[in-house]
Amino acid sequence: MKRELEMIPLDSEIFKFDCHKGLSCFTECCSKLDLLLTPYDVLRIKNRLNMDSKSFIDEYTDMDLEDYPPFPILKLKMREDGRCPFLREDGCSIYEDRPSACRLYPLARASMIVGADNKERFFLIRDEKCLGLNEEREWKIKDWLRHEGVEEYDRFNFPWFEIVTSSEELPAESRERLFKKMKAFFMASYDLDNFKRLILTEKFFQIYNVPPSVREKVFTDEKELLYLSFEWIRFVLYGKRGAVINPMDRSQEM
Ligand code: SF4
Ligand code: SF4
Repeated sequence: MKRELEMIPLDSEIFKFDCHKGLSCFTECCSKLDLLLTPYDVLRIKNRLNMDSKSFIDEYTDMDLEDYPPFPILKLKMREDGRCPFLREDGCSIYEDRPSACRLYPLARASMIVGADNKERFFLIRDEKCLGLNEEREWKIKDWLRHEGVEEYDRFNFPWFEIVTSSEELPAESRERLFKKMKAFFMASYDLDNFKRLILTEKFFQIYNVPPSVREKVFTDEKELLYLSFEWIRFVLYGKRGAVINPMDRSQEM
């Protein structure tokens, strides 16, 4: 059973929190979690574990489907005893590559998309087991994000959440075509090794006009590959042409 956590809207830039091994709740927070994984989370953890993306997905994740569009979203699969698979006696075994949600805690974002007034909305996650919330150390939100390395993750999470939470309507289409698009979304989001195999085919660069400077980078730099995958998803879903992907022949598109 997943833990029920209360979300309290934060009205101030400041909150109180401290987490350290001296607290009796140490590692209590790492079980029964409903923990969404972003593509960048998967990239970081599968590399940490020296696994290919497909093997990581099979072993460590469960899939959830959004309502509509039915985006397939990965969650970290908890062990049978409810604990996170990366939890050890002395804490998180993948700490330097822990997922975005673990970095943000005890904060959560209402949405990765900024509101109408251009401000992000943050919540404080109220977990009665978490004694760190009773500590007196004060944090400004921006200092917390920097301290936890969230900013690096945001570079990749924002563009992806923009796709997933977009209010833009998908073009009306058959069930079969929608299924095909969701499969493409999943592969380019999470199964990056497979996406790389796709672009290695001659056909990809025959269809999409990717500048040579980008082509070179995507084969050696997985972060560049991830950016390319987001552009490709936007094109496949909404027909949006980015600066990098411009189809040469629309008759060959998905
Ligand atoms: S203070 Fe909260 S976040 Fe830190 S170990 Fe305890 S339960 Fe987990
Ligand atoms: S990844 Fe690490 S920090 Fe996150 S829930 Fe698992 S053990 Fe805890």
